[in-house]
Amino acid sequence: MNSGGYRLRYLIVYGPTQEPLDPVRYLTNRSTGTMGRLLADAAEKRGHKVTRVECPTHVRTARELLKKLQGLIGQQDVLIMAAAVCDVRPAAYTGSKIKKSQLSVVKFVKNPDILKELSIKKSKSQIFVGFALESIKLYQGAHNKLRSKKLDLIVAQKVSKNIDPFGNKPLDALLITATGHRQAHPRISKASLAQIVIRKSESLALENPSENA
Ligand code: C5P
Repeated sequence: MNSGGYRLRYLIVYGPTQEPLDPVRYLTNRSTGTMGRLLADAAEKRGHKVTRVECPTHVRTARELLKKLQGLIGQQDVLIMAAAVCDVRPAAYTGSKIKKSQLSVVKFVKNPDILKELSIKKSKSQIFVGFALESIKLYQGAHNKLRSKKLDLIVAQKVSKNIDPFGNKPLDALLITATGHRQAHPRISKASLAQIVIRKSESLALENPSENA
């Protein structure tokens, strides 16, 4: 517990980014932000100081989100990145509505990988938690992300034509830590999963205390 009366500083990021093509149209994805809101509620219940960044309400695009988080990350003990960042954005934004006849081909360019960018300046005491949705090779895909984004913990979930993880319903989750520990949580509610993720990230952060905590 520090002098502010809270235990750890959590930055919790959730919801889908939106990538505009023109003032009317944009690219996004099916995320609802449910998991992130439940994570933020669970962290607050445990007495932590929580900063919530909700997409697209507070921040719309991936590039704006990267800037926002670069400004906030220095003061955090734990980052939970549950945002569904669009992998690509329209290559150009047009300030007036594009005519239907001009819309047959839209070019995309890659967005920055926010976790990868933030991991460059990650301090030894900080804990980063990410999420992974995979259709095949759940463990392999999630483990690769854990390593490439320098995460301490990743929460992997399946998605397919028949498995729909969006919204507030039970899911199958696999937690993987950087030390190689795996924990499967079949048919778990998002609220229970949120509590588990907060407790796990807490213990990782407390094993690794920051100098100014
Ligand atoms: O690579 P993928 O998008 O599947 O990785 C998922 C994890 O990476 C999530 O935690 C997500 O919030 C984060 N992410 C990111 N920047 C991106 C795409 C995903 O930080 N451009």
